[in-house]
This record gives sequence, C-alpha cells and structure tokens, in this order.
Amino acid sequence: MLNDYAKIFTQAENYNIAYLCSGYQCDLGFGSRVAFRWVFPDRSLLNITFAELEEDSNRCANMLLDLNVIKGDPVFTFLPKQPSLYSFFLGILKINAIACVLFSNFGEEALMDRLGDSKAKILLTNKGFLRKVKSIWDSLPELEKIIVVDIEEQESERVLSYQKLLGSSSLNLTIPPTVPDTPSVIHYTSGSTGKPKGVLHVHRSIISQVKTFREILSVEDGDIFWCTADPGWVTGVSYGIIAPLSQGITQIQYSGTFNAEIWFEILQNEKVNIWYTAPTALRMLMQEDTSLFAKFDLSPLKFIFSVGEPLNPSVIDWARSILHKDVYDTWFQTETGAIMIANRPGMEVRPGSMGKPYEITAIILDEQNLPVPPRQQGRLCLEPGWPSMFICYLNKESVYRQKFASGYYETGDLAYKDENGYFWFFGRGDDVINTSGHLVGPFEIESALLELDEVAEAGVIGAPDELMYEKVVAYISLKQDISWTRSLEIKLRLHVSNKLSSIATPQEFVIVERIPKNKSGKILRRLLKAWYTGEDVGDVSTLESE
Ligand code: AMP
Repeated sequence: MLNDYAKIFTQAENYNIAYLCSGYQCDLGFGSRVAFRWVFPDRSLLNITFAELEEDSNRCANMLLDLNVIKGDPVFTFLPKQPSLYSFFLGILKINAIACVLFSNFGEEALMDRLGDSKAKILLTNKGFLRKVKSIWDSLPELEKIIVVDIEEQESERVLSYQKLLGSSSLNLTIPPTVPDTPSVIHYTSGSTGKPKGVLHVHRSIISQVKTFREILSVEDGDIFWCTADPGWVTGVSYGIIAPLSQGITQIQYSGTFNAEIWFEILQNEKVNIWYTAPTALRMLMQEDTSLFAKFDLSPLKFIFSVGEPLNPSVIDWARSILHKDVYDTWFQTETGAIMIANRPGMEVRPGSMGKPYEITAIILDEQNLPVPPRQQGRLCLEPGWPSMFICYLNKESVYRQKFASGYYETGDLAYKDENGYFWFFGRGDDVINTSGHLVGPFEIESALLELDEVAEAGVIGAPDELMYEKVVAYISLKQDISWTRSLEIKLRLHVSNKLSSIATPQEFVIVERIPKNKSGKILRRLLKAWYTGEDVGDVSTLESE
C-alpha cells in the first residue's frame, strides 16, 4: 500500500484524505471489504463496507455543496460516536471544507468557544443536543444551518433533516484537486491560559498517519484494528478514521462507554489483531478480577499500544502476566497529528519510557535553549517539518510563533533522554491538566467557577491520581457569609459540567481563605499543587514575586 501511495502522491493534487479513505479503496478493488465493524452497547453489529462509505460520504459532500459550503469553510459535528458522523466527516473533506469533531460531552461554553472561534458554518448534531446548541445560536452569527440526524422533516429554514438531505443528494462527486497544503481538520486543545486553541492540520498529514500506522502500530493487510479513542480527540481521528481507512484496513468502532466484559468480548469475538487504547482504560481493566480474563481467547491479538498519558510499568507487567502481551507506549499531541515518539514491536521495551523518536529529531533543551546531556530533564522539543505538523492556531498567530521561538517546536512537556536514545516523560511544563488522557485547561474551569455568586476566587490544578493519572482539584475561596455545603458542591459540579464537560468537572474541592497569587495577580498553581501533595516549596515569597 505504501508503494501505491508513492505512485499516487507523484500528483500533487491527489492528497485528498477522504478520497484515499473511500473512493481510492474502491478503485483498488476493496469496495466490498468491511471498513467499519460497528459494535453497539446492546451488542448488535453493523458492517459498513468501503463502497457504502464512498456512497454515503459522496452524498454528504453533495449535501454540503447544495448548502453552499465552499473550500475552507469550517463544518462541525457534535454527536456521540455513530456511523453518520464518519460519513459526514469524509464528506466535509471531500469538498475541501474543514472538519471538526466536537466531543459529545461538551457543555454550552465549550461549544460556544469552539464554534465561535472557528466561525463554523454548518453543524451536524442530534435532537437531544439541539436545545443546547440553540441556546447559544444567537451568539454564533456565522453558524448558518444545523443538520439533525434524527428528525425526519426539516424543522425550519435553518434546522434541517440529515436523512431528508441525504436522500435527495447525488451520489456522483468529482473530488476537487487537493494539494498537500489544503487545510483538512481542526482539533481544539486546551492551554493553561486563555480559551482552547484551534489546531489546524492539512491533507499532507496523512503521510505521517499512514507511516506510523504501518511501522509503529505494525498493522498488516488483513489485520483487524481497534482504536478505542473518541473522534472528538486527535487519536480518534488520526488513528480511528484516517490511517485505517486509507490503508483498506477493517476497524472496530464501539459506541458504548468502558465496560471490561464488553471490551474483552469485542477483542475476542471480533478477533482484534491490533489494539490501540489508553493507560486509564488499561488501569481500569487491571482492577477487574483476573478470572474475567481467563474466560476469553485473545489469541489473534498481536499487539497492544497505548497513548495519551504516561504508561506505568505496572500496566506493562500486568499485560505481560495476564494477557501475555507487551504494551507499547506511544507519544504524540494534537499539534503533531501523528505518533512522534514510540515503542514498537521488535524494539526492547523499557517500562516507563515513551520509546524513541520516529522519523523526527526530538531534543531536550534547557532554559537557555541548549541541549542537555543524557538523563538531565528539560523541555521536550521537536525539529519542525514532519508531514503532520499543524500549520497554525486559528486566530492566535503569536501563540503559534511562540511555539517555535527556539527554532524547535515546543511541546510543553518535560522529559529526559537516556544514553540509548529512549525518552522518559516527566510531566507537563505548564499547568494543563491531563485527566484520563484528555487535556483540560485550568483557566476555563476557574472562569466557570467564578461565574457563581458564592465563589470569590478559584485556582484549579491537576493532582496525581492512580486511575486517571491526574484528577481535577479546585481550590476555592467563598464570598463572605457563604458556607461550604454539600448542595453548594453539587451546584458547582453541575455548573462546570453543563458549561464545559464532565471531564473538566472538579473531582475534589478544597476551601481556602485566599488563592495564592503573584504580584501581577497570576494564580500560583504550582503552590496549590505543592499544598495538595504536601511537597515543600521553600520560600513562597520568591514564587509570589515571579
Ligand atoms: P493531546 O494534545 O490532547 O493529544 O495531549 C497531548 C499531551 O498528552 C502530551 O503533550 C503529553 O503531555 C500527554 N501525552 C500523550 N501521550 C503521552 C505518553 N505516551 N506519555 C506521557 N504523556 C503523554
């Protein structure tokens, strides 16, 4: 397949990701092959072939053309995992519009920030989520139409029925020339200050996604692949849509949430060969009685890979003893678009290490931007120029430039490299919280908490957690005469969950007299973290004057 790509890429106009994911597979004669094997929570199954995907995504593309969507227009989905999301996603890319999948758990403000910042033109959603979207629609002047997957008739000029539009859309589509630099996908990612940033990728990114799929995740023709990530996050798009489809590989999609028994049933019944998942999920499995695993025959399973958070050596030990498999850790980010540092089959796994860089120069820099010797911790930076590198943060040019100020791309992570070239993750260099592999920005949560009358000040940190790697802990001070009660706690939790998402909802509140800040009013989250862990921070006045 990679050779075929070399042939197809000799034409600079042939880079359309969605064509490579569907039409090209049909051209290669794989139309009747299963692209998606859906497993639903009630254990029912649905196969979607590459030919069906080609048809549906062509119809979606034509539906969008009929709605006057043009090249470069942002088109969003806000849906739980379901087949129509995937056809629509490919339809968007087929006409050179830009696709963004919103995590289905997002609350109003999280939606507002993303739809508003990108000036989204069209949104695909469902009846259940419509009310949430309508409540913010007045503040989104660029959002022209909402398409609803589960209404049979159009509700108004601007609220349309997906089924109806699909039924009247043509099957025939000519894919426009798509050069490698054509914008393709936006993912939003959280920072430690300000609102989430829109990370823009281009169709060229498929090169890195395909190569890493074949050479790191080691997927061979005929393998069954299962990436458990939600398409609302980069892994769920790069490896849960683009890489497997564009390689003609059958992949599993499970639309339910975590359930150890069902997950193992899927691995067994669907004869999964390559499984790409996350440390939190593996740690949750580790909590199960080992007798559960003895019931299942996982002999087709060749390799397990993990991404999103540090992979503890104990998880690797567990998988070795219970599943008789190694777990290979991989590292990447929304901005990198594809795996950058990884362990892989055939390479010695050093438990606790993220592995070695793949077709990229990774470097550890000190505060003077100089490379540090082995085993010395510093900022993890990458030499720019890999094919799946993001091309900008939407509307945040200076933040983008800042990321490359040292001449390298600044990942924001702290790490060290050993004498043998293995990289070891230490933590984030900023205050961003990584909870179960999902990044959340403390600033957004603090802002949401401050909206409530009872809260005077708020400072939010990620605190160590055995299961989720980090949990969200909110330090708050209350306004005069307000006392901390269980009902106030519930009110705060609900507010953050409705505004942002359940992922961002604090697991724990700590009530303090005042939130420590430096002289310019910046919250000292480092100090809060030290308070939480009981670490000695020494002279606080140095922090306060920073
Ligand atoms: P995101 O952009 O949401 O995909 O998150 C990327 C961040 O998740 C990285 O900068 C790391 O902080 C963290 N991360 C991803 N993979 C790993 C890994 N294998 N080990 C440790 N941290 C990871």
